[in-house]
Amino acid sequence: MIKYFKACFLCCALLFIAISCSNPEGEGTPKNVILLIGDGMGLTQVSSSFYYSDATPNFSRFKHIGLINTSASSHKITDSAAGATAFASGKKSYNGAVGVNSDTVSIPTILEIAEKIGRSTGVVATSSITHATPACFYSHVRSRGMHEEIARQLSVSDVDYAAGAGLPFFTNRDDGANYYDSLSLRDVILDTTSLATFDEICEGCQYMYLDTAGSMPRMLDGRGDFLSDATKLGLDHLSRDEEGFFLMVEGSQIDWGGHANDAEYLTTELLDFDKVIGLVLDFAERDGNTLVIVTADHETGGFALSSTPMEEGWSDYNKVTGTFSTGGHTTTLIPVFAFGPGASRFNGIYENTEIFHKMLETTGW
Ligand code: MG
Ligand code: ZN
Repeated sequence: MIKYFKACFLCCALLFIAISCSNPEGEGTPKNVILLIGDGMGLTQVSSSFYYSDATPNFSRFKHIGLINTSASSHKITDSAAGATAFASGKKSYNGAVGVNSDTVSIPTILEIAEKIGRSTGVVATSSITHATPACFYSHVRSRGMHEEIARQLSVSDVDYAAGAGLPFFTNRDDGANYYDSLSLRDVILDTTSLATFDEICEGCQYMYLDTAGSMPRMLDGRGDFLSDATKLGLDHLSRDEEGFFLMVEGSQIDWGGHANDAEYLTTELLDFDKVIGLVLDFAERDGNTLVIVTADHETGGFALSSTPMEEGWSDYNKVTGTFSTGGHTTTLIPVFAFGPGASRFNGIYENTEIFHKMLETTGW
């Protein structure tokens, strides 16, 4: 009898271990995917959040970390269009390509794939919503400069939630069309001066915030909490979908601080992006079914956290100064941070196109 109990106890213990081990950290299948892109955010940009803020950066909350090679099919150093096309569609293309392959043929995006199987989708940016990075998720044009055509394609898309700037590309166009009016005829809920409240967006409805400016203001010029607020509103709206959602959020202007070789511009944009990472991770922790990926299309500026020159050729190793080596992009490997079900797939060193394939494999979309 005692032997029997012992055996039974052992079975129960093994069963308990089996159950509790069946879903270890970073394994499993997510229902929702949130892709956060810090444009131009290399490892030094990420590191700056540890030197320019007293708070612990939200980057430190990730346990699954990888590195990607970002080169384009046409150039060793990518631009944001080819970089985002790699993430969105899983193909290396030429610099300037938006959702098309190297033969300028349209290729399906993760957002369109999610939409097709009944998931809700959204894009958020601090640039024009027609700018290269967000455009690569919902449009297909041979050149990133075709803002008016990109705006037209967004206007006829099924994107459930979009927030960014660029209203003039919808209303003040060379072809005389007014896509703001046609969106409102389609019952898309629209704002151009401030974000809606959650209650103002009906369940299952399409919402777009199109700021009247060509891009959102810099943090230094008083953008405030736009990126956090727009992301939070998007999460509240999209997570009403029981089937799941795909949301892309871009910290667009980290790149612009790098191009301007302006460390203060860069780091204020980076810290704003880190705040968004915090609120997205809080959501994902509560939800339990959400995969969060944070990465960048490339590094911008050849940014370094350098010691500060003193008199007579000495350097102060206790004073960090942000310095730059170029006004353009660089081809350094870019970090990938992942959290939630499927996160462990993002460990290792691989090509930027793998982000697309890993998202598809882990969701089964
Ligand atoms: Mg961008
Ligand atoms: Zn750039």
